[in-house]
Amino acid sequence: MTDQHLWAPWRHSYITSDEAPEPVSSGCFLCDYLQQPEDQDRCNLILSRGEHCVVLLNRYPYNNGHLLVAPLRHQSKLSGLTPDEHLECMNLLVQLSNIISEQMNADGFNIGLNVGKVAGAGLPAHLHWHLVPRWNGDNNFMSVTAGTKVISQSLDSLYELLSRNLSD
Ligand SMILES: [Zn+2]
Repeated sequence: MTDQHLWAPWRHSYITSDEAPEPVSSGCFLCDYLQQPEDQDRCNLILSRGEHCVVLLNRYPYNNGHLLVAPLRHQSKLSGLTPDEHLECMNLLVQLSNIISEQMNADGFNIGLNVGKVAGAGLPAHLHWHLVPRWNGDNNFMSVTAGTKVISQSLDSLYELLSRNLSD
């Protein structure tokens, strides 16, 4: 028995790596985020996890306050959602647009769902509503001519503002 070695090459990278192993990706960032422990929610920009739906900030916003509302289940079709999932998503969109109107003085909203890749969905396999606040004059020359937008509020302070109001 003395000459036997346990050959465990995977231990090498475990021992030499000082970083936590990357979680296995499901290919869907929403499902990846939801599988991670809730203490990661803040850095994943998840504002709230409901019974059926999740709210998160869009990391690449079209406009200040751009949010995503999605069912917890990986579902690509509207007809695949249960009545409870539809209702909770809609209620969240109403609640969030009220908060943004009051707290950020939004003048209007684009609320939309891109179903399928052909419709422009960046993540066609997992439905998600976009909630994009609008302000009078926000479609200014910069976004038209340069394809850039000035996002005045940082994601961090936006997260603070919305999570404070959402938990009230
Ligand atoms: Zn998913």
